[in-house]
Amino acid sequence: MSHNIRLVNPARNYQMIKEEIDATYFEVMSKGDLIDRGQLKSFEENLAAFVGTKYAVGLNSGYDALHMSLRAAGIGPGDEVIVPAHTFVASASAIVNVGAKPVLVDVGKNFNIDCDRIEEAITPRTRGIMTVHLNGYMADMVRVMELAEKYKLVVVEDACQSLGSQMLEKKAGSWGLTGCWSFYPFKILGGYGDGGAITTNDPEVALFATRMRYNGEDRQTGEYHGHGFTCLLDNLQAAFLDIKLRHLPSWIVRRREIAARYRAGLADIPDLLLPHYDDTRRDHVYQNYVVRAKQGNDFSEYLKANGVEILTQFRKPYYRHEALKLEDRGFPETEALSREVCSLPMNVEITDQEVDYVIGVVRRFYEK
Ligand SMILES: *Cc1c(COP(=O)(O)O)cnc(C)c1O
Repeated sequence: MSHNIRLVNPARNYQMIKEEIDATYFEVMSKGDLIDRGQLKSFEENLAAFVGTKYAVGLNSGYDALHMSLRAAGIGPGDEVIVPAHTFVASASAIVNVGAKPVLVDVGKNFNIDCDRIEEAITPRTRGIMTVHLNGYMADMVRVMELAEKYKLVVVEDACQSLGSQMLEKKAGSWGLTGCWSFYPFKILGGYGDGGAITTNDPEVALFATRMRYNGEDRQTGEYHGHGFTCLLDNLQAAFLDIKLRHLPSWIVRRREIAARYRAGLADIPDLLLPHYDDTRRDHVYQNYVVRAKQGNDFSEYLKANGVEILTQFRKPYYRHEALKLEDRGFPETEALSREVCSLPMNVEITDQEVDYVIGVVRRFYEK
């Protein structure tokens, strides 16, 4: 029997909520509600309530959210912003694209920024810290906020992978000046194309983003408040995301069940490091279930050959891509984990039998 266990399965997910999605589609299409209508407003209100902030502003992508946040903070040429060495490239690109310099810092065993290494990266030019909450698990925001306070730095949270996770009961995306969200289809709240948002408690930042996403225009008065961008979240996407957001709490419960199943089936393998941490202040929403396998590519190739779709983000760290012209200050943990990372299938569509199949393949790899 040939297997094909998908990393994420958008088509199967659609079948789970097809009635709601189809009804919304027909409603939006029949009314022609395409740009900046009630569905966008509703989604923004519900997202802000979920994250625990006063405002949410829908944008085109997670990248736009990062970019908009840095602009709102007034970060630009001559400024430095601290960012982890292990993250998706967009975190650093947003910094470069406002004219500032990303200063990379190594990560720790939980894939997030190593707070013990932040201070040595701070210079008189440092203006901000872009913390990334990777894979569904928050960076230590208590430490990050302490450092930000001490050095008067702006904090932008790249929370694109961690919607719903929290530390000390305070959600990711509600700590810094902004929380940045991506609704790329493979994210925990995935749309049917690109999408993003910022969450914030700062009315000035919310207003800035609301104008700048629409070419700087105040939609009420028609006044342009600056040279802006075109990066408004589509009303139709917002309507779909609003439906999915209602399912998110139960979907997070399901993700934790799957993670627990992997743990029960794999925890005894010495060469495999699983993403379970014992900090009781933080919880994991398992956007990704990233294991570290000592056997690197042998491990990931074996899974692929046995019908298990996996991701190995990232075998080549982004600062090693020459065209990006980034400074490699030496990041031993990032280097080590980049050879070993492997994301196992994690999605709410997967069945227990399929999870058990993946566990079986992993066990066979280590038994041979
Ligand atoms: C997905 C992601 C982004 C970018 O989001 P897009 O919507 O694809 O622009 C940024 N940072 C992290 C950590 C991400 O996972």
